[in-house]
Amino acid sequence: MDPILEQYQRLVERVRSYTPSAELERMERAFRYADAQHAGQLRKSGEPYIIHPLHVAMIVAELGMDMDSILAALLHDCIEDTGSTHEDIAKLFGPTVADIVEGVTKLTRMQYVTKEEEQMENLRKMLMAMSKDIRVILIKICDRLHNMRTLEYQSTKKQREKSLETMEIYAPIAHRLGMQRVKWELEDLSLRYLDPVGYDEIARELAAQSSVHEEFMRAVREKVERRLADEGITSKVYGRVKHIYSIYRKMYTQHKTISEIFDLYAFRVIVDDIPTCYNVLGCIHDMFNPVLGRFKDYISTPKPNGYQSLHTTVIGREGIPFEVQIRTQDMHQTAEYGIAAHWKYKRGLAGHLGSEETYEWVRRLLESQQDTDAEEFVSSLKVDLFADEVFVFTPQGDVKSLPAGACPIDFAYAIHSAVGNRMTGAKVNGRIVPLDTKLQNGDIVEIITAKNAHGPSRDWIKLCKSNEARNKIRQWFKKERREENIASGKVMLEAELRHMGITLSQVTAAENLPAILKKVGQGSFDDLCASIGYGGTTAVKAVARIREELGRIAKTQAVPPAAGPGVIYPGMAATAHPAAKAPKRTQSGITVEGLGNCMIKFAKCCAPVPGDPVIGFITRGYGVSVHRADCPNAQFDHTDPREAGRWVNVSWVEGEQESYRTALELIAADRDGLALDVASALSALKVRVSTLAARATDDGTALVSVEVEVKDRGELQQVINRLSQIHGVSTVKRVTG
Ligand code: MN
Repeated sequence: MDPILEQYQRLVERVRSYTPSAELERMERAFRYADAQHAGQLRKSGEPYIIHPLHVAMIVAELGMDMDSILAALLHDCIEDTGSTHEDIAKLFGPTVADIVEGVTKLTRMQYVTKEEEQMENLRKMLMAMSKDIRVILIKICDRLHNMRTLEYQSTKKQREKSLETMEIYAPIAHRLGMQRVKWELEDLSLRYLDPVGYDEIARELAAQSSVHEEFMRAVREKVERRLADEGITSKVYGRVKHIYSIYRKMYTQHKTISEIFDLYAFRVIVDDIPTCYNVLGCIHDMFNPVLGRFKDYISTPKPNGYQSLHTTVIGREGIPFEVQIRTQDMHQTAEYGIAAHWKYKRGLAGHLGSEETYEWVRRLLESQQDTDAEEFVSSLKVDLFADEVFVFTPQGDVKSLPAGACPIDFAYAIHSAVGNRMTGAKVNGRIVPLDTKLQNGDIVEIITAKNAHGPSRDWIKLCKSNEARNKIRQWFKKERREENIASGKVMLEAELRHMGITLSQVTAAENLPAILKKVGQGSFDDLCASIGYGGTTAVKAVARIREELGRIAKTQAVPPAAGPGVIYPGMAATAHPAAKAPKRTQSGITVEGLGNCMIKFAKCCAPVPGDPVIGFITRGYGVSVHRADCPNAQFDHTDPREAGRWVNVSWVEGEQESYRTALELIAADRDGLALDVASALSALKVRVSTLAARATDDGTALVSVEVEVKDRGELQQVINRLSQIHGVSTVKRVTG
């Protein structure tokens, strides 16, 4: 008979034992389709390719899985290796089968680079997270098992690579899913290629002693069976030598020879119910001497992967220790097949799952789907063990775990805060993407940085998902705080000016400052200092320009020279500053009693706006400084003759100036997005904002300072009202001195 049909016949027999025959017709169609698609392709062994999917389907059938899984196993290499598409498969065999095949294809395409243990754990999680339907990973494991069984036809290099990957990724996943038997086989097959010498040594030794082992196991088995029968307990007793890799690991971690290995044998007693398990344990401890500290009750405390059994190690009369595992038939199914066992029980599912009080991890998987009926519930069983994480690669192949929904900003800060702070863009899988792109499992993410990047923007705090990124961005803003930059920049500027023999007042003098600012390309004196403070420009460069500009101004200035270095005496303001020199002065919206046009400056400490009662102070250098009447700085001492004469009455002239700059301070409970909410509230009011700075204090409150431009006191009140409504804001006040 044709070996392909022969293999197919074996599959039919296996599947028929647990599936209604109507389903077999679908399987036959899938087999014919896959066979036609793979026609002409050969495996490394020289066999027709279809032999591989047939064997994978057989392994899937041995796990007792449902028909969709078997179909997907037959078709699992069609998208990868033939012209089939998801659409083709969906049309012929339904969307579920197509989704599973596509899922398996994605896992097949993943590249693994050998990494340290922490990286491997992330890779395993990523693999599981990528398998949205748990059947995807189950079929991938079966695929890998068959590839490992036929690894002898591959090159030595391939053999080592595949074995390492199997040992580090697939065997642990099989373990995590509770599939003991598959796990053992994967481990033994891998070991054969990873350490052929060590493997052979153990295999040879076991083979040489096999009759001794057989004899020992037979004797123990019969003894136990007799005793349990006497007790009226129905049981099945099996003995086996432990699998090669588990012996290997013990020999190498405990530096022992095979003859020194403590428990080479494992016996399994399978009974009907849990109370009987404990009865059997009593009998075993009565018959043999238990080894202290070796009893483990995984029935009352199951392993995380759902495994349940009683374990004990005892020593018989011959002085040979052996392990005994006692469990029910149900527990045995779970131990052997793990999560796959659930497909075995498909028909009696509802009752079965309901009784599984201790099957915590599967319950977690199922929680989200409690309302759907049982049938649908299994077919849509999703792996959401790692639903809150997403796993992505660096261009070097390292895996980073990020919170689900993370974007390139999170990734950049996960690499290093310097990478985040210098980020100007990001590439995902080689393509430039927006910074708020949601990262998917398996994406390769690359961050584009520039030395002179502006640094993070405040929206990033809202876009990113990880606390790490948020904290690092906040840290940056804290560090980059404008006030501090201004202060430090001013110190540097003053030092450099002194060095060049220029006084600060020369620079800030009203007649010089606008031209100087233009020359250095800054909007205000504070901007200039801030820029020096954070290193946008240097004090040396700025002062060189200032010097140049001052020189130019001095040349163009009319003789006779000014009365003194930037000093204005009360009453002299009007003449000292001819109107022509500062045309904007008339637009200040302020008239000064007793003086004509004069230089008006609104005091920063209280930032008055039209409607505020105001008072003027004739300053040195700036003309008249206008304060709010209630400003602490305007509470002058009438008895002080030096000051009394400087205070003058001022008043507002309507419609002179469009807007006035003033400042507000908000106190709020610190939270994400606070500054953003403030900004958007202001923009909704169409208010111009010149600065907005938030800083958190240690006690969990945040201080937000904003500088806005408003028409008058009425508009300012609207702004205050609106800002007070922002969630978490407790106080909004105007600056006062
Ligand atoms: Mn395959």
